[in-house]
Amino acid sequence: MDKKATFSIWYYISLFGLILMAEALFFSGYSAKEIDYSEFRNRLEQNKIETVVLTKDYIYGTFMPEKPEANHIRPDNLTPPVRHTPWYVNLDGLFDSFKEAREKAKALKELQFVVVRLNDPGLVERLQKHGVSYRGRIESNFFKNFIENWILPLGFMFLLWTFLIKKIGGGGLGGPLNIGKSKAKLYEDSSALNVRFSDVAGVDEAVEETREIVDFLKNPGKYTRLGAKLPKGVLLVGPPGTGKTLLAKAVAGEAGVAFYSMAGSDFVEMFVGVGAARVRDLFNEARQKAPCIVFIDEIDALGKSRSGPGAPVGGFDERENTLNQMLVEMDGFDGSIGVIIMGATNRPEVLDKALLRPGRFDRQILVDQPDRKGRYEIFKVHTRNIVLADDVDLEVLAAETTGFVGADIANICNEAALLASRAGREAVTMQDFQDAFERVVGGIERKSRRLNEKDRQRVAWHEAGHAVVGWFTPGADPVQKVSIVPRGQGALGYTLQAPEDDRYLLSKNEILARVKGLLGGRAAEEIVFKEISTGASDDLEKACGMVRQMLTVYGMSEKYPNISLVDRSNMGFLGGPPQRAEHSDELGREFDKELSAIISKCYSDAKELLHRKQEKFEALAKRLLAKEKIDTSDLEEILGKRSDV
Ligand code: ADP
Ligand code: MG
Ligand code: ZN
Repeated sequence: MDKKATFSIWYYISLFGLILMAEALFFSGYSAKEIDYSEFRNRLEQNKIETVVLTKDYIYGTFMPEKPEANHIRPDNLTPPVRHTPWYVNLDGLFDSFKEAREKAKALKELQFVVVRLNDPGLVERLQKHGVSYRGRIESNFFKNFIENWILPLGFMFLLWTFLIKKIGGGGLGGPLNIGKSKAKLYEDSSALNVRFSDVAGVDEAVEETREIVDFLKNPGKYTRLGAKLPKGVLLVGPPGTGKTLLAKAVAGEAGVAFYSMAGSDFVEMFVGVGAARVRDLFNEARQKAPCIVFIDEIDALGKSRSGPGAPVGGFDERENTLNQMLVEMDGFDGSIGVIIMGATNRPEVLDKALLRPGRFDRQILVDQPDRKGRYEIFKVHTRNIVLADDVDLEVLAAETTGFVGADIANICNEAALLASRAGREAVTMQDFQDAFERVVGGIERKSRRLNEKDRQRVAWHEAGHAVVGWFTPGADPVQKVSIVPRGQGALGYTLQAPEDDRYLLSKNEILARVKGLLGGRAAEEIVFKEISTGASDDLEKACGMVRQMLTVYGMSEKYPNISLVDRSNMGFLGGPPQRAEHSDELGREFDKELSAIISKCYSDAKELLHRKQEKFEALAKRLLAKEKIDTSDLEEILGKRSDV
């Protein structure tokens, strides 16, 4: 809690106290004595009442002046000679149906209402008869009203609010009194800042591009002396897990400056204005700590395009407010003070164009999936502190992990080390890495899930079908591993096919080869068991997805070539997947027909191949049933070298 908040709390407490005191003064200062209602009636009968004031809760009044006693008369004549003894009747407790009276009181005014309350219709006449001067007053009862109308509802709202903040904001530093404060964590000199460029591997270009920022943060004078302006905003773009966060930290670590990090989604709160306040706070704090880095992760959560069908209808939107505030802040500060804003996203295409204008995130750095050499470097980084057995070959691991990103590799290395320690080994072996790899790819082995013999047979032939078709189809990726050990949630077995090298392009033939391999499982079941099973659902999903993409994304249709049904300018609602471009139902039907034709052709090709390689197919299935897991050496032994295909 900061000073301001403390101050305001005391302010309210003292205000409260003052009110209490005023109320007390009001009553005691009146120094009237309480009398019973019956006494009031008696005195009235005795003509001893001078005046009354009738209110909702009290009857106030004075008695007729008593005859002044001689010794009370002061010689200086300064004190009035008569005493109008004040008194009051508390009507509360006199009548129990207070609520009812109040209801009625609303309808009636002043005197009438008191009369109703007293249920004494003759009162007014009697007052008149006895010559009492009377008037009515609806007492404001300030204190009571204050509590009922302000303190209670406000207190309730406050509690509700606090509760919601706790729920939504996940607690943390953002207590209810500083909800607008940024949730930024200051990483100054903390261990998170021990990240260096040497920890980031496989993305050399990105590292090179950020070196300049480090230099600027270290000695800004060098650049500003000549009037150069450095970028204020740098956008790191790349798939998840490629090391964007890591790279941003490394920049801060190398430059030795404070690192503020916050996710775009942190700004987007339910409460109007909170996001904008957070942005303001974050930048204020950053300005004071300059030079420093402000890192905004998942910036797409904040800076989604404000136009297009994905934009919310109506225009006014909390996210937009927040985004605007951010643009204002970015424009507002002087580029030479040394605050660099780094953003990260894996979907740059959905970002609002306003964010990418000069003076904002005008520099983009691609942090891409690592290639084979990059993966090797990343393996080296993550095995630095791991004791490796002699047989571990990181080159081989890098080759086997096509398509993996840094986060996956970090995961494999950690898993391997865990497996080795669990087994009590002195060092982590290649086998540990292989197991870890399989675990990351296929999920945890389910040794406990025992298949019955019938299912086991089916899975073995199914996988053998994949493997044989994959092995003998030109253009298919080499088969590396086949397993019939159940894994993860659904997989009963798997055949791992991976390209020898990183592939950036696929020919039509290669796509079809993949599709055939995927259909090989079901084809095998049909041939061997004369009956198909549910085990191929995953394969079919993948195969059909590939063919559909082939036709409608890559324009590889025979009948309607070079047509794309992708429309990137038309993002889905709230940043969903791109919409399909407008097209006629007829074209859609034609593509559907072609899809089914291609699938059946690939399926019959797969079946035909399995018939042709009947012997090898059988041998492979038998080996699988015996060994459960086989790799390239078994495959080559049974199927022959692949290059001979
Ligand atoms: P991103 O922000 O791009 O989603 P992260 O930076 O959060 O990815 O990466 C998560 C983890 O994966 C890192 O902490 C690091 O251990 C590992 N990692 C990712 N990319 C790399 C890389 N290029 N070099 C080394 N480690 C990496
Ligand atoms: Mg990240
Ligand atoms: Zn399958």
